[in-house]
Amino acid sequence: MAGDEYERMLQAFAVAKSFLKQQVELGFDEVYAQVKTRKKSPAPKSLDDFCDKIKNCTKCDLGYSRTNFVFGTGDPGANLMLIGEAPGREEDLQGEPFVGAAGKLLERMLEAIQFKREEVYIANILKCRPPENRDPRPDEIETCKPYLFQQIKLIQPKIILALGRVSAQVLLETKSALGQLRGRFHDCNGIKFLVTYHPAALLRYQQYKRPTWEDLQLLRKEYDKIEVSAG
Ligand code: SF4
Repeated sequence: MAGDEYERMLQAFAVAKSFLKQQVELGFDEVYAQVKTRKKSPAPKSLDDFCDKIKNCTKCDLGYSRTNFVFGTGDPGANLMLIGEAPGREEDLQGEPFVGAAGKLLERMLEAIQFKREEVYIANILKCRPPENRDPRPDEIETCKPYLFQQIKLIQPKIILALGRVSAQVLLETKSALGQLRGRFHDCNGIKFLVTYHPAALLRYQQYKRPTWEDLQLLRKEYDKIEVSAG
């Protein structure tokens, strides 16, 4: 076998091995059935349990450059979950999502529609900061997103608000522009899903403020309907 081909084979094997390991850790039975040599880890019972399990993750390179792992924060039983892209500088330093200038603005946005930060759950697609706040790479997103899916499974929100293009495109599995996705509810595996601009974009571009305000009002209206139907 030629050297290049052998290298490629080794790389493919390493990726497959890492994927299977992650699936087993997440407690996915069907994959476990194929990995008979490993003992299945029990599925996490709570967010804290899950965080403990993955907080030392180094499945992608970001695990080696981060200061802190940024799992998520808020009410583990929240009906509303907010999902951003990845931790920034402040978030990396403090180990909490949305704590910098964009985080302060997000709090004001929530207050404007009568939500307190602690009554929603806030997380990101990636749990570790990309250096210099560059865009997350597709391989990083692929590696990290099962963690977010597991968080969603544990929280079981009724509504998800995606903050920004990356979060919207990853969760809706689309390449459509944010402007085409916002302003209406989508279905994301049975969960009502709304898209709006990331607060960091609002800090830079005034013109996004009005459409974001419209999205937030839409969100509040839908949330109230859910509250009423839940009695
Ligand atoms: S970004 Fe996600 S996959 Fe990469 S090291 Fe951090 S937790 Fe692990």
